[in-house]
Amino acid sequence: MSSTPLHLVPSPVEAASDDAFPHVAINRLRREGRLSAPLPVALGGEGLSEPEQVGALRRLLTETGRDSLPVGRLFEGHVNALALVLRYADPGTREALARDARDGHLFGVWNTEPKENGLTLDAVGRLHGAKSFASGAGFVTRPLVTARMPDGRSLMLVMRLKAGERADLGEWRVHGMRATATGTVDFSGLSLSDGAVIGAPDDYSRQPFFFAGAWRFLAVQLGGMEAVVEIFRTHMRDTGRGGDPHQQARFGRSLIALESCRLLVARAAEVAAAEALAPERVVACVNLARAAIDQAGLDVLTLAQRSVGLAGFLDDHPLEAQMRDLATYLRQPAPDFALTGMAAHVLDGDTPLHELWPEA
Ligand SMILES: Cc1cc2nc3c(=O)[nH]c(=O)nc-3n(C[C@H](O)[C@H](O)[C@H](O)COP(=O)(O)OP(=O)(O)OC[C@H]3O[C@@H](n4cnc5c(N)ncnc54)[C@H](O)[C@@H]3O)c2cc1C
Repeated sequence: MSSTPLHLVPSPVEAASDDAFPHVAINRLRREGRLSAPLPVALGGEGLSEPEQVGALRRLLTETGRDSLPVGRLFEGHVNALALVLRYADPGTREALARDARDGHLFGVWNTEPKENGLTLDAVGRLHGAKSFASGAGFVTRPLVTARMPDGRSLMLVMRLKAGERADLGEWRVHGMRATATGTVDFSGLSLSDGAVIGAPDDYSRQPFFFAGAWRFLAVQLGGMEAVVEIFRTHMRDTGRGGDPHQQARFGRSLIALESCRLLVARAAEVAAAEALAPERVVACVNLARAAIDQAGLDVLTLAQRSVGLAGFLDDHPLEAQMRDLATYLRQPAPDFALTGMAAHVLDGDTPLHELWPEA
């Protein structure tokens, strides 16, 4: 993998239409070895999924999100899928899927499903039903999905799909993150032999790995916040309005929000990777960062809107698409539960606050 900065600038075609899938940027990740970088060195990667490399992985996710939130979302799904494969798959499956990653297949994690017609696996190994809000639908060729078994437990599978197959993007008419091609994928008619089983039933939701893995999307969201604040600064410079004390105060508050989140995401990533604390404590640390970035992301959007004004809502201003992407991507599952669960954990315990998440 080269160490040059990514700068995943979309192609002119991609830039002209914010709902085009970012082929150029994904191909660039592929070419630069980023799709295989999370694999261990022994499997042809750079070991970015190893706990001691968590800082490097976090910086890469933030950098990708800063350049493009849709690309960051797709890359985060790929990294998450490989992390699950590396953790739970048997050695033969791990090797086969590592080869697919090295060959350039894009992975993703598709867990969300429609209220009716969610994905099930019957007693003879056939799949029925669909996944919804599946990023990279039609482009991800190695999705990791969860399928409900007859006994109610959930099994992880990595399916082998062909590009363009089974994806329905008809309902993805959305405020932002349009380029992620987030759609519905129906697996009916496929069976276990069209994919590989990953781990044992219910491994997907094992804690703390399940909830604590949220640190990865926080790292991407942080990149999106950075981009908003950078556009804000450029606008102040270009318009000569940065000397005004009201503008300085709003910009200063944006920086505080951004830099506080940077520290919290870094700590969440370290605590999640180390897994040295009780699972509930690890999850509470990541949930604290989730709640912080959810609020801080909205705060920087409001501050930038007030400072840039109407110009930032015109579709030729860089803030316009960036705001839509960040506002959309901030919507992650169960934010209330993340905040209150973290608070309840600390309220129920008597560990001194300064010892909750000790520095390494
Ligand atoms: C760009 C993008 C790409 C995505 N890609 C994928 C993907 O590839 N794979 C995938 O699996 N998913 C994907 N998702 C879906 C994502 O994981 C979440 O499912 C989705 O973002 C949840 O958003 P939500 O706001 O509807 O969450 P919800 O959890 O429904 O939250 C909405 C509100 O309801 C509250 N709430 C939640 N549960 C309850 C309850 N039981 N009772 C009362 N209130 C409740 C929440 O606190 C919040 O205030 C993607 C989402 C986005 C935005």
